[in-house]
Amino acid sequence: MVLGSSRGRLDAVVVGAGPNGLAAAVTLARAGLAVRVYERGSRAGGGAATRELTLPGYLHDVCSAVHPLAFESAFFRAFGLRDRVRFLTPDVSFAQPLDGGRAAVAFRDLARTRDGLGADGAAYERLLRPLVEHASHVADLTGSTLVRVPRHPVTALRFALRVAEQGGPVWNARFRGDAAPALLTGVAAHTILTQPSLAGAGAGLALGAYAHAQGWPIPVGGSQAIIDAMVEDLRAHGGELVTDHEVTSLDELDDARVAMLDLTPRALLRIAGDRMPSRFGRRLSRFRYGGAVAKVDFALSAPVPWAHADVRRAGTIHVGGTRGEMAAAENDVNRGRHPERPYVLVAQQSLFDPTRAPEGAHTLWAYTHVPAGSAVDREESVTAQIERFAPGFRDTIVAVHSQTAVQVEAHNPNYVGGDIAAGSPDLWQILRRPTLSPDPWRTPIPGVYLATASAAPGPGVHGLAGWHAARSALRHDFGIRDSPDLSPS
Ligand SMILES: Cc1cc2nc3c(=O)[nH]c(=O)nc-3n(C[C@H](O)[C@H](O)[C@H](O)COP(=O)(O)OP(=O)(O)OC[C@H]3O[C@@H](n4cnc5c(N)ncnc54)[C@H](O)[C@@H]3O)c2cc1C
Repeated sequence: MVLGSSRGRLDAVVVGAGPNGLAAAVTLARAGLAVRVYERGSRAGGGAATRELTLPGYLHDVCSAVHPLAFESAFFRAFGLRDRVRFLTPDVSFAQPLDGGRAAVAFRDLARTRDGLGADGAAYERLLRPLVEHASHVADLTGSTLVRVPRHPVTALRFALRVAEQGGPVWNARFRGDAAPALLTGVAAHTILTQPSLAGAGAGLALGAYAHAQGWPIPVGGSQAIIDAMVEDLRAHGGELVTDHEVTSLDELDDARVAMLDLTPRALLRIAGDRMPSRFGRRLSRFRYGGAVAKVDFALSAPVPWAHADVRRAGTIHVGGTRGEMAAAENDVNRGRHPERPYVLVAQQSLFDPTRAPEGAHTLWAYTHVPAGSAVDREESVTAQIERFAPGFRDTIVAVHSQTAVQVEAHNPNYVGGDIAAGSPDLWQILRRPTLSPDPWRTPIPGVYLATASAAPGPGVHGLAGWHAARSALRHDFGIRDSPDLSPS
């Protein structure tokens, strides 16, 4: 199926209609180029798709659900995403239920969070406040390749010192109780890395800062709304989207001046074949894929009966108990084991967005970490962990859709072995993503660029890799130095 207009010879083809592929496509189309996007799926979306996975009328986010990066991304700010998509921002950004009906709660308001954390409240606030107050500087630092001089050196230094503390053996030194450390590890564990680790702490502190700055928003109607806004802009500027079309060779793209690939290094090696210079090919073949996820989506007859009242108001919940317990579970996964009491990421979008489920009913989005390539169904472990902190949860379940890591990869080959980050986001691979370069989006194959989460700045729905790749292509292949205006026209 071809959507949009056809104008003869193409300036650019984009392979993959995920957030990064579409960010590249939109940027190039807005520069006046003729752009076509090929997507193997039947609809654009990639990691930001929304579908009726369980029952008719229940809208589930297939991959991403919660979008702090959509607010903090320089690309989405330029694109005016908030003027195009309606977002709802819960007062409780994330919560960490603890045994005995207790919970640690990250309100969007940092002072309120401090007040709820008792003796550790002030220490938590001192850790995060400088980052919260300069959240846009943190986003600038982490939103591109790290192979460059930081634009805000004071924030960069504060960030680095805090990462060194929270990513190493002294991570508990400033705390006395278990609530504040659990809150921090719940976020750091998004990375599926060993805990503590520097890259885990970096991601955790950045996301933690955003939680207390602009919050952790969810789009009305689901993550697909973000994609639909990008496709609409692409088509309005003459671009085409071709769905149900899997690209298997770079030779298929020869009628365009540039190719922007929303693919992993592994896929690039496969489709480039002999056209891949051997030295660069060797570097790409060393790119490592990380831990994986098994996803479980629920249709519910009622909201989750969390034991702690504030958890019932949270957009995101990190289920897994204390810092020590979550670290043990994550370290198990990194050693190739399926933990008995796993770390589970939960989002309850339908509490805020009634479009997600029939009246009175709810959806629940959850996933847990598993070793790469796992074919183990984790529905029961995920259900048991939620039930542990929400007695009665099982009675609310109407239908379940469960996916193993193997099935996650079958749905989208960018998630190699079920690795939703499209490449381990450990420190070395955040620096070298996929190569150590100030322009890691440009490949040595003329006109071929990587517009993907496998390239800097890494995973998340931010479109930044696609935007950086497109701007590099505009400079190098079209002699256009100014970034095109992306604002809603
Ligand atoms: C379960 C899960 C939960 C997540 N939660 C969040 C979250 O809450 N917040 C957040 O910010 N991020 C989250 N992420 C991460 C985020 O979704 C990804 O980092 C992001 O989508 C990456 O964007 P991308 O454009 O690089 O790749 P993708 O979104 O993976 O898109 C790649 C596209 O390329 C297509 N494709 C692949 N090969 C070919 C080919 N040969 N020919 C044509 N098309 C091809 C695929 O079908 C896909 O549409 C989550 C991911 C998953 C899987």
